[in-house]
Amino acid sequence: MAHVQLMPDHLSNKIAAGEVVERPASVVKELVENSIDAGASWVTIELMEAGLQKIRITDNGAGMEEEDCERAFYRHATSKISSENDLFHVRTLGFRGEALASIAAVSRLRVQTSTGDQAGTKLDLEGGKLMNKSKSDARQGTDIIVEELFFNTPARLKYMKTIHTELGHITDVLNRMALAHPEIKFKCTHNEKEIFQTNGRGDLLQVIAKIYGVNVARKMIPIQAETLDFKVTGYIAKPEVYRASRSYMSTIINGRFIRSVPLNKAIMQGYHTLLPIGKSPIVVLNIEMDPILVDVNVHPAKLEVRFSKEKELFEALHGSITKAFREQRLIPEVQHAN
Ligand code: ADP
Ligand code: MG
Repeated sequence: MAHVQLMPDHLSNKIAAGEVVERPASVVKELVENSIDAGASWVTIELMEAGLQKIRITDNGAGMEEEDCERAFYRHATSKISSENDLFHVRTLGFRGEALASIAAVSRLRVQTSTGDQAGTKLDLEGGKLMNKSKSDARQGTDIIVEELFFNTPARLKYMKTIHTELGHITDVLNRMALAHPEIKFKCTHNEKEIFQTNGRGDLLQVIAKIYGVNVARKMIPIQAETLDFKVTGYIAKPEVYRASRSYMSTIINGRFIRSVPLNKAIMQGYHTLLPIGKSPIVVLNIEMDPILVDVNVHPAKLEVRFSKEKELFEALHGSITKAFREQRLIPEVQHAN
């Protein structure tokens, strides 16, 4: 006779990790998001072998007290929401309380963290099990080292692509983070060589120059528009600068980089006939809205979201782009018949 039992935590975490931690880039994404949520003004990312050997993320965010730090590795442990109602007002990037438990379940992990006013906490975990706990220095912030990712999930490890491919995924993640947060200074090294850095001075155009090149940055038109529900800021490239892929359209909702077919459609319609057929523009748009208008609890990686006023948002985006092109005289003013 089979008996129904609740799984022990380390087993359910390992299973959940399959969803949250797909590859090294997922670890980087989750840890950097935590740094941003902790209010960090700088985040350093050190990688060895595209993160398969080692990922180290250091920040100067709020840090954690000893008790919180231990709890943070439990599944569904979060400081970001505490009631059902909070789920409709999420302003942070995280809220599911799954990342640390999942990452720890499939790696050897060391965390050192301090809130700055007393000695910090250092924990060592292996496959999610706490191996060692001690005091660390009192530098405010958090430092997490993830080594030997997937050491205990051989099938997943085997699925990893080349260093080149994995590093490409990480670069994508960092580019998105930097575009969404020009006010944070990011620095990334790979095998001890610097591969990416932003200055954290809050200038989106400088970040665009860093990622897409100075020549693209020179062709960007600023966008600023406001409707009752949405505030749209950012840059759109002049139509002469186009790409073959849609992945150069970046949409950021309340600081979160997202992918949205309807938003991309609105952007494409804003460009109307200005682009060659089959080409896409380079666009970085920040859209601020009341969190009640966006459901981020759709997908574990939160890349997809749902909007409750999708039509209005579509109009706001489309309108702000058309307005910018009119101001640039790239499309004519509307002619009034009389
Ligand atoms: P979530 O981000 O969804 O809350 P995580 O598993 O990613 O879940 O993190 C659990 C908790 O650990 C967070 O809610 C936060 O309180 C704490 N935490 C994680 N990373 C950091 C960090 N870099 N600085 C400060 N606190 C952190
Ligand atoms: Mg998180």
